[in-house]
Amino acid sequence: MTVSVTGATGFIGTRLVQRLHADNHNVCVLTRSKSKAETIFPVKNFPGIVIAEEAGWKDCIEGSNAVVNLAGMPISTRWSPEIKKEIKESRIRVTSKVVDLINSSPQGVRPTVLVSATAVGYYGTSETQVFNENSPSGNDYLAEVCREWEGTALKVDKDVRLALIRIGVVLGKDGGALAKMIPLFMMFAGGPLGSGQQWFSWIHLDDIVNLIYEALSNPSYKGVINATAPNPVRLSEMCNQLGNVLGRPSWLPVPDFALKAVLGEGASVVLEGQKVVPAKAKELGFPFKYPYVKDALKSILS
Ligand code: NDP
Repeated sequence: MTVSVTGATGFIGTRLVQRLHADNHNVCVLTRSKSKAETIFPVKNFPGIVIAEEAGWKDCIEGSNAVVNLAGMPISTRWSPEIKKEIKESRIRVTSKVVDLINSSPQGVRPTVLVSATAVGYYGTSETQVFNENSPSGNDYLAEVCREWEGTALKVDKDVRLALIRIGVVLGKDGGALAKMIPLFMMFAGGPLGSGQQWFSWIHLDDIVNLIYEALSNPSYKGVINATAPNPVRLSEMCNQLGNVLGRPSWLPVPDFALKAVLGEGASVVLEGQKVVPAKAKELGFPFKYPYVKDALKSILS
């Protein structure tokens, strides 16, 4: 299979490309910066990978069986009005380009699958509600970003199978929210963040990569699919488990201001969460490798 990937140089994309390449699939890395992508995927370790800046995306997409769309400006930053605009527009711009290129590809050589990222921020935040794929969207800024991002992907032609993956907070070794939270945790001894009652819908990096990988070839992976572990936790529980695994006491609360200092307003993803369940993935029988946060953290941190 030949797969084109936007956002391939990011936290999730890098691992996905490594996996596709290891399994002998052809990969096109669709990037804004060839030189950056070449340092992440050096030709000696990744022979045969094609790296293309925007002018080359058309040829890549036309020759692909599937496209994975992960690109977007990171949200863990300070949210000035300009940055908020770019957080939304970067996602819409790239998704729109990908969709246009798929739709205008000649029949016969066009990709038959688009796996496009979105986020559990779609549902808004709540300490009491449980959200599945049929739940309505929320009213806040991130919900609006996700709605428009998904709406753009939905413009792909109907004969292309579209899987919209609503991703929870991805836990992995060298990136994402966890890499930023751990130093803080060590500094403050690391108790609950804020009230601790907020929900934290997380997924291990291996599981999100496996889920995207499965969605590429399994025709049942269609429509919206929540990519969160089957056992979301309240933030107090997450912090307890993190404290245990790191061998740190977890009774001193980490102040909100400290988290905001490292995550910017993007800290809202952690400080105001939502309980999201992977109803569709369970129905599809997706085998979560890490259903429990304790095991996920142990695998990442030990
Ligand atoms: P990263 O931030 O690690 O990588 C995203 C990639 O998008 C970058 O490698 C970059 O690729 C591209 N990108 C960055 N800024 C821009 C921009 N301004 N315009 C266009 N492209 C840009 O993301 P993750 O791997 O963590 O996540 C992948 C997707 O999944 C993202 O869209 C994210 O919002 C979503 N998601 C992630 C979650 C997580 O916990 N990690 C949770 C929920 C959703 P290049 O420089 O090669 O063009």
